Amino acid sequence: MISLYNFTLPKLEEHLVARGEKKYRATQLFKWIYEKRVTSFDEMSDVSKKFRDVLNAEYEIKKPSIFVKQTSKDGTIKLLLELEDGNKIETVLMRYNYGNVACVTSEVGCNMGCSFCASGLLKKKRALEVKELVGQILVLDDLLALEGNNERISHVVVMGTGEPFDNYDNVMDFIRILNHPYGFAIGARHITVSTCGIVPKIYDYAKEGLQINLAISLHAPNNEIRNRIMQINHTYPIEKVMEAVKYYEKTAGRRVTFEYILLKGINDSKENAIKLAKLIKGTLAYVNLIPYNSVNEMKYSRSDEKSVHQFLDTLMKNGVTATIRKEFGTDIDAACGQLRAKNEQKEI
Ligand code: SAH
Repeated sequence: MISLYNFTLPKLEEHLVARGEKKYRATQLFKWIYEKRVTSFDEMSDVSKKFRDVLNAEYEIKKPSIFVKQTSKDGTIKLLLELEDGNKIETVLMRYNYGNVACVTSEVGCNMGCSFCASGLLKKKRALEVKELVGQILVLDDLLALEGNNERISHVVVMGTGEPFDNYDNVMDFIRILNHPYGFAIGARHITVSTCGIVPKIYDYAKEGLQINLAISLHAPNNEIRNRIMQINHTYPIEKVMEAVKYYEKTAGRRVTFEYILLKGINDSKENAIKLAKLIKGTLAYVNLIPYNSVNEMKYSRSDEKSVHQFLDTLMKNGVTATIRKEFGTDIDAACGQLRAKNEQKEI
């Protein structure tokens, strides 16, 4: 069976034309599945019976199923979704005052090996298909529909398990579907992709000509610390990341966000903040400080409140714009990959 959720609109047009169908069918189908959210081909009333028979015989519009659902006191919903092959992935819905934010997983497991991250506890099994990326939004929208407030996901961050630039083509197709007026119609500036710093892909991304936000997990002010906590830094050291960021700013005309987890005694001193400010001077970048979510299996702990504020103040005094990331769902295994890791352990 061919899933309609695997196609961007131009790719669906091409696919249908190649099999002798009319091009406009693609727009019709897109509107049914994304605007109206039908769950069967028979509901597509302006599609001929003959074509509906073809769709029923060879195509599908199936979503992942909910395996575990956790709801936090603050309204955050964390799902463990089951894919067709039995693999499980995490998806999170966060409620900011400006909208409903989906945190999407890009791969089953992750091979980037950041030493503080729970996602990497389970190595990458495979990349997600476009339909599985799209499926995460569809399932969250279904839950929102049940709440009866006529709301849908308004913002998407590709910051769940996995490295989106390690699944570049599928993530880009997913973004095109999110952004398309006949798709989810989510504005580019409401979409953020976060990478640990796969440098060649930052160049590709800069050339896409999209207005999507780019976040880079920096987490250290120099190679010495970054090598210790992020394996990727051995392949793409900090200076290469900074060059790519400058290229991105010039080519895409956009500023990046640097994510910086504050790890107690590792990267959170005043001196580290001064070094960080020096490093990013000359870029337009902005820093998002992330309170660390402790992971049982790992030796790191979160910086205390005082160090966090000292770090923030030092950045600001040295001319860098920075904020502290708001926390959600701290009562429901909020840290990346924790729910899935916990579940797999139970199964073993
Ligand atoms: N692979 C991508 C996207 C997924 S991780 C990336 O590295 O950016 C999304 C963000 O969450 C990254 O900045 C990551 O470093 C951070 N993160 C991972 N584990 C965390 C934890 N335990 N607490 C807080 N943030 C964490």
